[in-house]
Amino acid sequence: MLDLKDKNTLVVGLARSGVAAANFLLDHGASVRVTDLRSCEQLKEYMSRLEGRVNYTLGKHRQSDFLEADLIVLSPGVPTDIDPLQAARQGGVQVIGEIEFASHFLAGKVVGVTGANGKTTTTALIGEMHGRAGHNVEVAGNIGRPLVDAVRCNSHQPEMRYIIELSSFQLESIDTFRCDIALVLNLTPDHQDRYPDFQAYVEAKRRILLNQRPADVAVFNYDDPVTNEMQEYARGKVCFFSRREDLAQGVFIRDGSVVIRWDEKETELLPISEIRLRGDHNLENVLAAICAGFFSDVPLEVMAETTRKFSGIEHRLEWVSNCGGVDYYNDSKATNVASAEKAIISFNRPIILIMGGLDKAGDFAQLSRMVEEKVRCLILIGEAAGRIATCLEGLTLTVEAESMEQAVSIADENAVDGDVVILSPGCASFDMFEDFEHRGDCFKRYVSLLGEQESKG
Ligand code: ADP
Repeated sequence: MLDLKDKNTLVVGLARSGVAAANFLLDHGASVRVTDLRSCEQLKEYMSRLEGRVNYTLGKHRQSDFLEADLIVLSPGVPTDIDPLQAARQGGVQVIGEIEFASHFLAGKVVGVTGANGKTTTTALIGEMHGRAGHNVEVAGNIGRPLVDAVRCNSHQPEMRYIIELSSFQLESIDTFRCDIALVLNLTPDHQDRYPDFQAYVEAKRRILLNQRPADVAVFNYDDPVTNEMQEYARGKVCFFSRREDLAQGVFIRDGSVVIRWDEKETELLPISEIRLRGDHNLENVLAAICAGFFSDVPLEVMAETTRKFSGIEHRLEWVSNCGGVDYYNDSKATNVASAEKAIISFNRPIILIMGGLDKAGDFAQLSRMVEEKVRCLILIGEAAGRIATCLEGLTLTVEAESMEQAVSIADENAVDGDVVILSPGCASFDMFEDFEHRGDCFKRYVSLLGEQESKG
């Protein structure tokens, strides 16, 4: 275990994880400096949570802070290759990511979830299964609660279960971190602005298997060629899930029911008609969660019951309201092309689609056929609007909107009874909004105003 007493430590990046790491280091007797490129004014709220117990270098990074530290803890959002970090590494300073850092103090079992899409939904469902089964559980990582915070609240509890959502960025900086159960849900291009190519992104995700032992379990999507091939790198047991095929071993669908088959024993868990989550992609998330529950002592009836009750999470194909016969869905978390594609596939009704935002170099042309067949009107917002319009030119009525308010109003003008309006941007949100939650909330606010106007009129 890392010895932190009287160590000179530096936390890089002051947001939720940075605050949690600083508090953890202080608890263990380290002296702490926090550095962030944002200004004191921008970071006021986080600083207030540390109550003046740390030193700060804000608005810039100072090389000497990095070189003089005994240990540097990185928040997940900080690129691992910035100059002062490189210099610190060369100078022999230990640099450690937040997940890796927390794992040094973690007692209990770890279920790690990664993939291009569906991580949060699957992580939350696995967490609920464990909670309902009566296990002591923490749901942490990229889902919002820093792992270091969860570990801080549960030190010395060997029976804890940590269900951890892991982004590729978080996986890049692990070293000894190990998952008892590792899930790779699917892999389609994302973050092409940050990785040199798709292969580099896949390799970052594959790090979830690093350090697994023979008794550990790796869960892969049988139907997704990239994750299917990843089995070669598994060091423990391999469990597949499949929506399309009967498996000799694993979790799959047969005759409209979810089946678990393992060691020649077979159980029918529940009919898929009882699953409340919408769309085939969510069915895949459910199958993945069942694999995790199966290897983590969640009783079968508890898995079935949790799956029946789970209705998804905010900003993921979330039903907002019905306004004049038109259903509105908020899918603001669709920040890449593949997730927007799943939104379109999930409906068999004419769609008014709001897309756009900060361009992550996604391949929008891959939506062509679907847009032509299913989208009655395409409303484009944000920086990527022009590029999407070019990629999908002439396929359907396409309109650019200046704001979310205008986008919702154009949707309302074009939608007719029985249509569905979906905000599924296929892009990041930071050009117009603080984050995807802000974007989704904004959409929902304008939709609710439409509802009010309708009830008045
Ligand atoms: P993540 O945490 O990986 O971003 P979320 O569960 O937050 O995943 O969902 C993000 C977006 O991806 C939403 O638009 C959601 O509808 C879509 N999505 C969810 N699961 C899948 C899946 N298995 N495959 C493709 N898209 C998915």
